[in-house]
Amino acid sequence: MATSSFTKKTLGIESPEPAVTPPPANSNNTSFAKKPRPRAKTKKKEIPEGLWTKCPKCTTMVFDKELDENLKVCPNCQHHFPIGSRERIHSLVETCSFEEMDADMTSVDVLNFTGVASYTDKLEEYQKSTGLKDAVVTGIGKIGDHRIGLGVMDFSFLGGSMGSVVGEKLARLIERATEEALPLIIISTSGGARMYEGMFSLMQMAKTCAALAYHAKARLPYLSVLTHPTTAGVMASYASIGDLILAEPGAMIGFAGPRVIKDTTQAELPPGFQTAEFLLDHGLIDAIVSRKEMKARLSDYLHYLTNGQKTAAA
Ligand SMILES: [Zn+2]
Repeated sequence: MATSSFTKKTLGIESPEPAVTPPPANSNNTSFAKKPRPRAKTKKKEIPEGLWTKCPKCTTMVFDKELDENLKVCPNCQHHFPIGSRERIHSLVETCSFEEMDADMTSVDVLNFTGVASYTDKLEEYQKSTGLKDAVVTGIGKIGDHRIGLGVMDFSFLGGSMGSVVGEKLARLIERATEEALPLIIISTSGGARMYEGMFSLMQMAKTCAALAYHAKARLPYLSVLTHPTTAGVMASYASIGDLILAEPGAMIGFAGPRVIKDTTQAELPPGFQTAEFLLDHGLIDAIVSRKEMKARLSDYLHYLTNGQKTAAA
């Protein structure tokens, strides 16, 4: 009797166990007590990628849709995330007013440059992943009542590097603005000259600046907007010679990187070195304007600058 009742008991316990939780057979008895903890862990893992973005400044998780609606600015701490050239143009110009120039211009690998990958392969790869032909979009659009020449760089295309296409597209934009007596706005973001094109990319610095000199000679305003990061060859040419130079908050702006400067000068760099805020204090830039205010502020500046021109002409 004793033996039979013992076997019945074991059978009774064994049979429901696999029926309740077949895959994780080990954690049956503790599953009730530990339920909240594993659930919290799995919730974090279950967040689908591409829906939320962690703000690098305040570490808040921001819903991507909210971030997009807020022009890629953190709603909690106002950190400015990178924004694509198309989105930026959309945020600045009046609806349907933008007429793109030289949309199909692409680089040619004149040097047959090959590093880890060939330049031709790199170009193809970035053209596919970004949907852009090169690192700048140029055209004529309207901000408020003002017709303007607008060039917007895109960091997602080979680090916003300035090669012959960026230089040529900007030079053509500047020349057209000069011909049509339009104010000019260039929004920069760049790691510098495109090394794959060697000297041809460096030549773009002189070319764009020469075109800007004619634009200035025609007494037309040029507004340069620096966004994170604007460095090297771009900062050393057209980005730093605006009649007004604006920057987005927290943008890194400079020529060489801080480590190179520190090694060369053998001196401690001041806190906040190469940020927009530091450069405003030291007089290199005229104003820091948040992305959400940019359109209104550009419109105000254009109004002020073009009104002055009209009075001078009258
Ligand atoms: Zn934030």
